[in-house]
Amino acid sequence: MTDLYYGDPLSRAFWDGARNGVLVLQRCADCGRWQHYPRPLCLGCESTSLESVPASGLGTIYSCTTVRISARPGLEPPYIAAIVELDEGPRMLTNVAGDTARIGDRVRIGWRHRTDAPPLPIFTVDADA
Ligand SMILES: [Zn+2]
Repeated sequence: MTDLYYGDPLSRAFWDGARNGVLVLQRCADCGRWQHYPRPLCLGCESTSLESVPASGLGTIYSCTTVRISARPGLEPPYIAAIVELDEGPRMLTNVAGDTARIGDRVRIGWRHRTDAPPLPIFTVDADA
């Protein structure tokens, strides 16, 4: 596996967390707002006092669709693309495992391991989440 971080150093904590199976998000030390993807400033108060904090990995499907057309090798359709609203507040573009998902379904994070890159989040519908 390469030591490649996707994007700038701001995303390092996210990818380090992914390697350990932990969803790490930014949280503002001044106003408490969570955000994803990582940014240099808080979207709520413009503070630069941002910390990287483990999140619950739980959320609710905000939007989803089944992709049926091949967009790139290694990502074979059909699969579910979704926007998950995390319990901490931010929304994340991701995938949902399985054949069916509906807006409003509760989901729990898992990780899709890859041989040449850090794991990617993939959520699973879980009514108990
Ligand atoms: Zn803030």
